[in-house]
Amino acid sequence: MTVGSEIEAMVLTERDQLRAQRFPRPRLGPDDGLLRVELAGICHTDVDILDGSFASPLPLIMGHEIVGRIEDVGPNAARAWAVQPGDRVAVEPMAGCGVCRYCVSGNNRFCGDAVGYGTSTSANASRTCSGPTHR
Ligand SMILES: [Zn+2]
Ligand SMILES: [Zn+2]
Repeated sequence: MTVGSEIEAMVLTERDQLRAQRFPRPRLGPDDGLLRVELAGICHTDVDILDGSFASPLPLIMGHEIVGRIEDVGPNAARAWAVQPGDRVAVEPMAGCGVCRYCVSGNNRFCGDAVGYGTSTSANASRTCSGPTHR
């Protein structure tokens, strides 16, 4: 949730401990986007993250199956994805480098540089989120 110049998220601070925290609203670069999360699916991976059987770095803002509206977007990301503020989008859970053989063939989940939103990096599941856009 956006609260003035801050965003609010539930953060997994340690196994089985979720706490509401506020963060400064991220400053966007030309390749970045800011998403207002509307829905976040919950699957068994989330249960595994909570109990520690899926190794994720902590603290973590969970949620890797998300839909939301573009709140703000840098010019390069807007052009690359043909999006503008207000557009509703679904987020690819695994963002790869975009240039390796896996990414080029559409198998970005196997990319050695892939980032898992909500599993290996805290770039989602708050009511707003930002992060590097997937190429
Ligand atoms: Zn899942
Ligand atoms: Zn890649």
